Amino acid sequence: MKACIKRGAKEIGGSAVELTATNGERLIVDLGLPLDAEENTADLLPDIKGLKQKTDDLLGILISHPHQDHYGLVLHIDKSIPIYMGEATAKIMDVCIKHNLPQAFTFENQHIFESYKPFNISTFKITPYLVDHSAYGAHAFLIEADGRRLFYSGDFRAHGRKGKLFDYLIKNPPKDIDVLMMEGSCLGRELSEKYPSEQSLQAEFEKVFKQTKGAVFIQSSSQNIDRVVTIYRAAKKNGRTLVMSGYTGHILMALNNPHLPSFKWPDVKKFATDSTMPHHITKEMIEKNPNKYVIMLGGPIFNILKNGSLINENTSFIYSMWEGYKELYQERLSLMKEKQVPMFDIHTSGHADIPTLKQFAAALKPKKIVPIHTFFPEQFKEMFDNTELHKDNEIFEI
Ligand SMILES: [Zn+2]
Ligand SMILES: [Zn+2]
Repeated sequence: MKACIKRGAKEIGGSAVELTATNGERLIVDLGLPLDAEENTADLLPDIKGLKQKTDDLLGILISHPHQDHYGLVLHIDKSIPIYMGEATAKIMDVCIKHNLPQAFTFENQHIFESYKPFNISTFKITPYLVDHSAYGAHAFLIEADGRRLFYSGDFRAHGRKGKLFDYLIKNPPKDIDVLMMEGSCLGRELSEKYPSEQSLQAEFEKVFKQTKGAVFIQSSSQNIDRVVTIYRAAKKNGRTLVMSGYTGHILMALNNPHLPSFKWPDVKKFATDSTMPHHITKEMIEKNPNKYVIMLGGPIFNILKNGSLINENTSFIYSMWEGYKELYQERLSLMKEKQVPMFDIHTSGHADIPTLKQFAAALKPKKIVPIHTFFPEQFKEMFDNTELHKDNEIFEI
């Protein structure tokens, strides 16, 4: 089996790997949008035969998790190409389609795989491993062909709410791995990124909720389910109701997990402009008792609140995302500043820190380690003697 990183050998985001078996059959793993792309356009597609018009040797595309930097470019490919994903990824996509989000996609030839259940795509045998990451239902893949074994880590960490998956994987590692293709997002970011456990963030949220006399506003991702749970738990402890957009609520509902916050719960409300349903809450209702609410700021919610009096010096604003996305929320941040709203940063990375990467590699004992999804692949050499660096578009043997 041969491998070729089409994009991602020296960058975070836009990951795409092409695998070719000796009989010529090919499989693509992830087809992400580069993080620095201003627009999602077809000319960003990596040069892979059969993407625009399917060819017989192209078997399909595996999607590791529902982050755009891993699937974004599938929007531009031939819709008949088989596409494989976990159930949660498919459900999140469905909600995105219903909410008309531009990044949503539909496929004629969509296949759902189950975690830990091996399946074959012609010559290739794939075993998806569920991993802890800031995307719900993220997978790593063991991919076998021609008697060779590749382990593709995808994006992962050990300090989220599903940290047990990491423990399980290193206690029961797949054996005889020829190549571990592993993410290294944390490299070069160690000083700016934080890696406390997701659980430990709850106390930090609680502290801010407690000291705030008015409403608390939070900027966080609707799809970072671990974070929504952390915020909900902190709000509950503080006697506050969690207010979110219909989109956030629908994602939680679609995942069909009875432990996730739901509009059916008395302390979770949907922000609405009318109160016709019992789970709806309006701006006017919040204004009566602002200190009883924590509000996750989706775009439409911010647009309604920005002109009212609810945002004032008695409220708090918590930024709960990666620092790098701050420029996307300039309008919100400047308004908070202008209204003298105390601001806080409470976040933990979606990616493994260096000790976790080392623990992972030590457990899997691969013959070679190939870095991906990192700006500093050469730093792998300092950590692992068996590092093999490959540039984008370089073909190598597994
Ligand atoms: Zn990623
Ligand atoms: Zn990710």
